[in-house]
Amino acid sequence: MTQRTVYVNGDYVAERDAKVSVFDRGFLLADGVYEVSSVLDGKLIDFSGHMQRLKRSAGELEMSLPWSDETLLEIHRELIRRNALEEGMVYLQLTRGSAGDRDFAYPDASTPPTLVLFTQAKALVDSRSGSEGIRVATQPDWRWTRRDIKTVQLLYPAMAKMAAKAAGADDAWLVENGMVTEGASNNAWILTHDGVLVTRELSHAILPGITRAVVLEIAAALSLDVEARAFSVAEAQSARECFVTSASSFVTPVIAIDEVMIGDGRPGDVSRRLRSAYIEESRRRAI
Ligand code: PMP
Repeated sequence: MTQRTVYVNGDYVAERDAKVSVFDRGFLLADGVYEVSSVLDGKLIDFSGHMQRLKRSAGELEMSLPWSDETLLEIHRELIRRNALEEGMVYLQLTRGSAGDRDFAYPDASTPPTLVLFTQAKALVDSRSGSEGIRVATQPDWRWTRRDIKTVQLLYPAMAKMAAKAAGADDAWLVENGMVTEGASNNAWILTHDGVLVTRELSHAILPGITRAVVLEIAAALSLDVEARAFSVAEAQSARECFVTSASSFVTPVIAIDEVMIGDGRPGDVSRRLRSAYIEESRRRAI
């Protein structure tokens, strides 16, 4: 199997030679944040948005991020080049590093953070879920309450996705107090019968999706009405359309929620229009 080249703390190395300490706080305490930027035609999409959110995530956790956007862009581009990545994702993982012992207290400023980047090839534009839509199953939102920070604590989203798969669905929508917060790894949207797009308002309850922000811009450009508010599972099940947004799924139609078909059970027109507009706009803006 071909070895990817990955980036670890300043070096580009074959994946089999890539190492971080067993005392790394990301490993021991999930003391880390991450970002995922997608690549189309070998170029990065929504890169500045992802780097802005990375700075915010690190800032909220008092984690140092001693690299400029330009340096991070160079590392992303070098990895894309070395792995000849045309379409897929670049993952950036940042942890509070290792002070050489296990300790809850944050280490002092002399402990450097750990920075790892790796690529993952994936067909993003011509995907089955993008053209046929996905089925979701609802799960209780049992994550911590600072979901606006993109941390590497992904155990509960993994559990929720497994439970959704066990229920015969493709992915999970998370529900708190009867209202949908977001998907296990994406933001949730509905289109009402009055033609209003609805997605939950930003707060500590959800991740501020970069794709969500761009789709809001596109919706405004298309003169679609938008409301940022929470919606219930029942409202979503009886909506005209449902879809999710994320860097790696763009805009993906949702065709069933807990086995209740949305509309006629096929991807809706507005979801399809937003998907192609997002892809077109992303190709235009890619760097
Ligand atoms: N919510 C959660 C919980 C996520 O994990 C993701 C994907 N990282 C998103 C929303 C979508 O964010 P983005 O559009 O920036 O990928």
